[in-house]
Amino acid sequence: MERTLMIIKPDAMEKGHIGDILSILEKQPGLDLIGLRKVKLSPDDARHFYAIHKERPFFGELVQYMTRGPVVVIAIEGENAVARMRGIIGATNPKEAAEGTIRKLYAESIGENAVHGSDSPENGLVETGFFFFEREFLRLRK
Ligand code: ADP
Ligand code: MG
Repeated sequence: MERTLMIIKPDAMEKGHIGDILSILEKQPGLDLIGLRKVKLSPDDARHFYAIHKERPFFGELVQYMTRGPVVVIAIEGENAVARMRGIIGATNPKEAAEGTIRKLYAESIGENAVHGSDSPENGLVETGFFFFEREFLRLRK
């Protein structure tokens, strides 16, 4: 069992894609949306969350983007959840994303790319823990 964090980023929120994206997630057998919340990141939240990218030239732009409006954070649990969600999300650059992926459908650019997905099972645990307490997780059938 793995956990992964999805964030519906500000560009997708502004375009009204919460429902479209949740609808894709709900159709995935074996992936349970155990946590769901709307939040607005502070600049400190965004800097912490993306600390791994702090030396990258786009870091300032990324923090600006992620804090400009509310986002939806979703904790997802399931077998192989991290890789499965990365597949559903598509490549970082929407121009390279496969047909039918969330970024192909809803993203504009490599910077504003609609959603976040954890990149490893270890980061899935850290990132879901960044937004949720263990006691908040609710499973559909357990
Ligand atoms: P992913 O979100 O696919 O895991 P990364 O972890 O490499 O991608 O990057 C984190 C986020 O930083 C991306 O989703 C995107 O919002 C932003 N980003 C990545 N590369 C660039 C870039 N070259 N220019 C601007 N923003 C970028
Ligand atoms: Mg990443």
